[in-house]
Amino acid sequence: MKYITFNHQNTSAIGIGTWHLGEGNQAQTEAEMQAIRYGLDHGINLIDTAEMYGEGLSESLVGNVMKDYHREDLQLISKFYPFHATPKLIEASLKASLKRLQTDYLDLYLLHWRGDTPLSETIFGLEQMVQTGLIKNWGVSNFDLNDLKELTSLENGQNCRINEDLYNIGSRGIEYSILPWQQKHNMSFIGYSPFGSDGSEYLNIKPVIKEMAQSKNISVHQLLLAWVIRNHDLLSIPKTGSVTHMQSNLAAIDVQFTADELKLLDKNYPKPTQEPSLETI
Ligand code: NDP
Repeated sequence: MKYITFNHQNTSAIGIGTWHLGEGNQAQTEAEMQAIRYGLDHGINLIDTAEMYGEGLSESLVGNVMKDYHREDLQLISKFYPFHATPKLIEASLKASLKRLQTDYLDLYLLHWRGDTPLSETIFGLEQMVQTGLIKNWGVSNFDLNDLKELTSLENGQNCRINEDLYNIGSRGIEYSILPWQQKHNMSFIGYSPFGSDGSEYLNIKPVIKEMAQSKNISVHQLLLAWVIRNHDLLSIPKTGSVTHMQSNLAAIDVQFTADELKLLDKNYPKPTQEPSLETI
C-alpha cells in the first residue's frame, strides 16, 4: 500500500466510498461487507460514509464491519445533511451516526453540502462536538472557492480540515483554483466519484481511454482511478461492493503513466483554463 499525507495523517492512497452500500438483500450486503474487509485487510485505512446514504443503511453496514478492527487504526468520515447544520441538530445527527457506526467518535464530520444555515452557526456546532470528543476534526463537502474563502474568514473557520468535491478525468474543475488553494492553506482534498459514479451519465469514456487501458494491460476503471491519484496529492474514495473490484482498485494504485500518456489524456480531457462552476453529483 502507498500512503499519502491526508488530514495530517498517514493515509492509504485510496479510501473506501460507501454510497448505496447496505441497500440490497442479505447476500448482497454480505458481499459488500467482504469487499470492505478485503480493502481494510490490504492496507486501506479510511472509510467515507454519510447519514444520507440509504438513510443510515450505509453507516450501519460500515459499523458491522468496523467492530472487528482496531478503531484507532482507521479514519472514519461521516457527513450530515445541510438541514441538520444547526448546533442542536448536528449533535443529534452525530449521535445517531455514531450509534449506527458502533463507535464513540468520528475522525472527520463533514457538512455534506451548503444549505441555508449560516456557516458561523455550523462552525460553532462542530467546534462544540470537537470539545466533547465525539469528533476529532471537521470539514465540508461540495464547497467551491468562494464558499471556502467565506468559511475560513469566520471565527474558527480555519479549523476546517478537508473539503470533498467531485473529481475524475471528465470533471477536472477543481484543478483550476480549489485544489491549489487548499494545498496553500493546508486543507486536505478528497475527490469523490473517480469512475463518474454509477453508469455513464456523469463521465464520457472516450475511445482513447479504452485503447490506453488495453495497451497498458489494465481495465478502464483502473486507468480512471490511477489517473485521479497520479500526483499523490489527494485522496480518492472509489465505491465497490465486490471483492474482485476492490482487488482491481487496489492494484490501480501501482499503475504509472508516461508523460506522453498524460499529454494524450489532457488533449482528450482538457484541464480547465478558467474558473468553472463547481460540478456536483
Ligand atoms: P464511483 O465513481 O466510485 O463509482 C462506483 C461505481 O463503480 C459502482 O457502480 C461500482 O460497482 C463500480 N466499480 C467500482 N470499482 C470498479 C471496478 N474496479 N471495476 C468495475 N466497476 C467498478 O461512484 P460514487 O459516486 O459511489 O463515488 C465514490 C464515493 O464518493 C461514494 O461512494 C461516496 O462515499 C463519495 N461521494 C460523495 C459525495 C459527496 O457529495 N460528498 C457525492 C458522491 C459520492 P460495484 O459496486 O459493482 O463494484
